[in-house]
Amino acid sequence: MTDRLPGFATLAVHAGAQPDPTTGARATPIYQTTSFVFNDSDHAASLFGLQSFGNIYTRITNPTTSVLEERVAALEGGTAAVATASGHAAQVVVFQQLLRPGDEFIASRKLYGGSINQFTHAFQSFGWNVVWADSDDIASFERAVTAKTKAIFIESIANPAGSITDIEAIAAVARKAGVPLIVDNTLASPYLIRPIEHGADIVIHSLTKFLGGHGNSLGGIIVDAGTFDWSKDGKYPMLSEPRPEYHGIKIQETFGNFAFAIACRVLGLRDLGPALSPFNAFMILTGIETLPLRMQRHCENAKAVAEWLAAHPGVASVNYSGLTDNRYHALARKYAPKGAGAVFTFSLKGGYEAGVSLVSKLKLFSHLANVGDTRSLVIHPASTTHSQLDDDAKTRSGAAPDVVRLSVGIEDKEDLIADLEQALSA
Ligand SMILES: *Cc1c(COP(=O)(O)O)cnc(C)c1O
Repeated sequence: MTDRLPGFATLAVHAGAQPDPTTGARATPIYQTTSFVFNDSDHAASLFGLQSFGNIYTRITNPTTSVLEERVAALEGGTAAVATASGHAAQVVVFQQLLRPGDEFIASRKLYGGSINQFTHAFQSFGWNVVWADSDDIASFERAVTAKTKAIFIESIANPAGSITDIEAIAAVARKAGVPLIVDNTLASPYLIRPIEHGADIVIHSLTKFLGGHGNSLGGIIVDAGTFDWSKDGKYPMLSEPRPEYHGIKIQETFGNFAFAIACRVLGLRDLGPALSPFNAFMILTGIETLPLRMQRHCENAKAVAEWLAAHPGVASVNYSGLTDNRYHALARKYAPKGAGAVFTFSLKGGYEAGVSLVSKLKLFSHLANVGDTRSLVIHPASTTHSQLDDDAKTRSGAAPDVVRLSVGIEDKEDLIADLEQALSA
């Protein structure tokens, strides 16, 4: 062995994993157990008091899930990670550490439809107030900052149109405001974009999508970049003030550059409960081993499909930042030089009816509400994921009535194009 740092593909296969010390099992076993036996009473007390690390109960940590957490932290270049039952659960846990009732956070309008709903309605019931900004207009983030702002939230490659966000420009706004930048990196995966290198303080994922990659398991994860000083001005009492539930310890003072991950685990997972099941952690870990190979193929197929659509007479426009005439192409070359992802939208000359009709005629593309599967997927956002928005908000979030969204899979691209051809000519 040399002492060179392992590359991304090596980390995707190995990070966090060792052969099982008792059985020699090479694949990470599924530790399908709720709880773990203490060595003695002192050991139990020190685990409960956070004086030592170890497994207590699967709601807080589990050895299978710990391998997944270490692996994603390594792939993103963070200090630590915390897995959750879903991407949405990751968002709840993150914001619980940052916001008190009455606080605000700024979010880009170009978001996954479920996140728009969660922020607008569920978070409202916690007293957490979202203020919307436009990721194509950096000044709109600056204008949205108030004394109550506690965080900024964006997607790296944004739903549904696959637009590319200028992470560094928004990170600069966050730094000036003294708040952390949270980046949802689901559509890019760390293979295409590593937001921490561009100024993100917290990265989250729906593991359900490209990281798991096979459309079989829900999961989410929070990655702590270790970059933010939570104690600077008393804005984040969960991290800087004594915690009564742990004998008065201060989380940042005790845990330093992985304090945020610790808070998500010992205050978030412990008290809110959205732990990932060890079985799903195993499925997602297996998926991550092939992440680089899959992402290469996803991007190659998406580009071929986008180019073919752009030349089709029935297609009005194609929003794929991998195409040279796309408005996000320069940002794509800067942030995602290995490929512009596999989720994008296009619009049909026949409008809303043509979109609905296309979706019903496709055979190889599955009509469903997911992205980042090995299989190719299609949806008409205006009548489904974004249907709760009014027409104006639909258009501003990239889901206008004539828009169809594809998530291009890893099948043979000739078969995908043939399927689109038969559906468009029908
Ligand atoms: C799917 C998705 C989520 C939500 O994740 P779940 O695992 O479905 O809870 C959040 N953000 C983005 C970008 C997504 O695609």
